[in-house]
Amino acid sequence: MTDLAPPPAPPRPELTWTAGPGAPSRARAIRLTADARVPASTSWSHAATDLTGRSPAVRVRLTGADELVDLTVRLTAGDGAFVWRVLPDALGGPDRPPLLCDGQEAVLTLSFADVTLDGRPDRTAVTGVTVGLTAKGPSTAEISGMGSMPEPSRFPRGLLTLTFDDSFASQATVALPELAERSLRGSVVPILGRLDTGPEHLSRRDVDEMIAQGWEVTAHALTDETHQLGSARMTEQQREHEFTELRRQHAEMGWTADTFAYPGGWWSAEAGAHALRHFTGVRSAYAALTETWPPTEPDRIRTVLVMPSTHPDGAALAAEIDRAMAHRAWTVLTFHGLVAAGGAALTPLDTPADAFRALLDRIVELDVPVLTLREALGFPVSD
Ligand SMILES: [Zn+2]
Repeated sequence: MTDLAPPPAPPRPELTWTAGPGAPSRARAIRLTADARVPASTSWSHAATDLTGRSPAVRVRLTGADELVDLTVRLTAGDGAFVWRVLPDALGGPDRPPLLCDGQEAVLTLSFADVTLDGRPDRTAVTGVTVGLTAKGPSTAEISGMGSMPEPSRFPRGLLTLTFDDSFASQATVALPELAERSLRGSVVPILGRLDTGPEHLSRRDVDEMIAQGWEVTAHALTDETHQLGSARMTEQQREHEFTELRRQHAEMGWTADTFAYPGGWWSAEAGAHALRHFTGVRSAYAALTETWPPTEPDRIRTVLVMPSTHPDGAALAAEIDRAMAHRAWTVLTFHGLVAAGGAALTPLDTPADAFRALLDRIVELDVPVLTLREALGFPVSD
């Protein structure tokens, strides 16, 4: 008999609603409407707030989201401002998985790891908020809460998760030994239909070996077809079948898969809510903002997609991890294949083994905790 108990609940963020509209309230929401001709922005001020050790949080609902070009949040503080650009990637597009869905209210946290400084802002004295909206058609942002949450005291150096997608054999031949050599563990995110289908793909025994070394299995797709289709384009019935079968088939192989990653990163508000009935948390492919811990929206855990075009060597990635660590953020890296020395890449997403090794060495040097998705979602916020 396979164990299909409901997944454990993820930890809940300790949000404090303070500035501007304050506590979440639709009645007191600030509405901001832009169209193709006129960008919109709104500002409000409040008593000086100390954001040392805290990440700002915005409760926002977008309508006409497809028309939106840019959403910025600017906190004025002392002699300058902290600025976050939530878009252009947050809403997705033909090749961009979304962070925010049309009509859905979401709590968006903003890590100081991603901030741009304007002048010399003082984090201990934030006194104002400006939200700006640029659109190519009618579009509205409704800000129904502005606040913050603590950078986690549980993870004073931040935390890191290493995920490996789509059943590439090099995850066993390259990633597994390189991680083991450094006492690190990853999360393997397989397309089940690819297992045992040839030398370029993982075998079930490879996955067993990863689990034996402490790796996690994260559910992803039953077949290449459902991987291609993606969670957002499935009907409710198709999704229910996919999620139920994923949990059942993983359990049948003796693997616990209570986390999930959207194929291609594609999701919708409905797919997200549905996935959380089967899994504790879901990794997205949204990569423009660093994730905070615990995630405010566990159905869309943000990631860093590692590929040669954006991360030609370990250095750029190490700098990102350094910034995330300084602000106790959660860096979830997504890898595909690894290319051994002298080998050829199978896909443009494959990471050269030497860059991979350099990155792992840097992770060891930084001494940042490396946890699986399940582990990272298994800790309460405080004891
Ligand atoms: Zn995939």
